[in-house]
Amino acid sequence: MSNPIKTTGYAAASATSPLAPFHFERRALRPNDIAMEVLYCGVCHTDLHWSHNDWGWTIFPAVPGHEIVGRVIEVGPEVKRYQVGDHVAVGCMVDSCQHCDQCKKDEEQLCREGNTGTYGGFDRFTKEYTLGGYSKHLVVREEFALRIPDGLDLTRTAPLLCAGITTYSPLRTWNVGPGSRVGVIGLGGLGHMAVKLASGMGAHVTVLSRTANKMADALALGADALLVSTDEEAMAKAANRFDLIIDTVPVKHDLNPYMPLLDVDGTLVLVGQVGPLAEPSTVPLILGRRRIAGSPIGGIRETQEMLDFCAKKNILPDIEMIRMDQINDAFARLEKADVRYRFVIDMATLNAPAAA
Ligand code: NAP
Ligand code: ZN
Repeated sequence: MSNPIKTTGYAAASATSPLAPFHFERRALRPNDIAMEVLYCGVCHTDLHWSHNDWGWTIFPAVPGHEIVGRVIEVGPEVKRYQVGDHVAVGCMVDSCQHCDQCKKDEEQLCREGNTGTYGGFDRFTKEYTLGGYSKHLVVREEFALRIPDGLDLTRTAPLLCAGITTYSPLRTWNVGPGSRVGVIGLGGLGHMAVKLASGMGAHVTVLSRTANKMADALALGADALLVSTDEEAMAKAANRFDLIIDTVPVKHDLNPYMPLLDVDGTLVLVGQVGPLAEPSTVPLILGRRRIAGSPIGGIRETQEMLDFCAKKNILPDIEMIRMDQINDAFARLEKADVRYRFVIDMATLNAPAAA
């Protein structure tokens, strides 16, 4: 049996402290585990919520990061899918029960016993608290590692593992394809992936943003239009225009301005704010037979399908590469929606001295 791996990461010591270097160990490999050297890690708004304990259930020290790309450096004796040297990716889950009806349907994100989060979960065997990808190494059972298709640019792949699958999954669930009319609320990390993916599926895509500032970007990303959600006249004109709206807004907000935009039987899928919303009126729901739904990430099979789709269509996020020691500035900018459109940490900089 291998030994635990001594590693370094960046952790928040409390909800109010900045992320700082943190030394810890990854478990010794179990027979079906792989160990990877983390090469790149995306910065999701969830990492920020988690570090700030916005949802009230963070345990500190907390190492965020669930958009992970790396290279296999060791495999357990029963590992079949991967070899040392392979490039692999890990998203928001590292385990699930594997025997409930949802796991059997490849919907591990909906595991009846709860999936094990890449961070903020508890290992199913040791009950150790899981720590995420802002770290040099990661150990994961092989079933929860994804194969990176040939040709995908490794420097830009990490955000697909959360922002990509979280928007791909509802697009597939609601059968988006040529002719679908899709709206995307909030042009950030998730929003810009929703635009690229929906447009890659042939949909007519409209971004709903608070201002017109991101108009040129929205069109360049593949959207057909941008609707300013604070412009009441423009919103009124857009009534009944959408089959599906994906809402990525990360804070409490009001759905009432958006509901009339849905056509009969249209659905607004919440993927952003986890927690309360401003009071929604049932009037547009009942009178227009409209729906509100929610959606968490996606299963492993669907995540692999999404990676293969992105490789085939050459869909990749727009990223800003940062050094590990720039993470606290990146969080501050993310909070102000000042990122175009995903920060990715170059993990090779983890032990590197700061640039002068
Ligand atoms: P992000 O990059 O910060 O993007 C969020 C976008 O929402 C912003 O770019 C902004 O777009 C808009 N926005 C921000 N503050 C707003 C406000 N006060 N009112 C209205 N709109 C606002 O965040 P992200 O990484 O895409 O994550 C978005 C949310 O999804 C987070 O809450 C995250 O926790 C959640 N999430 C959920 C899942 C899931 O499984 N369901 C997975 C990953 C992330 P405009 O400037 O265009 O208005
Ligand atoms: Zn995420």
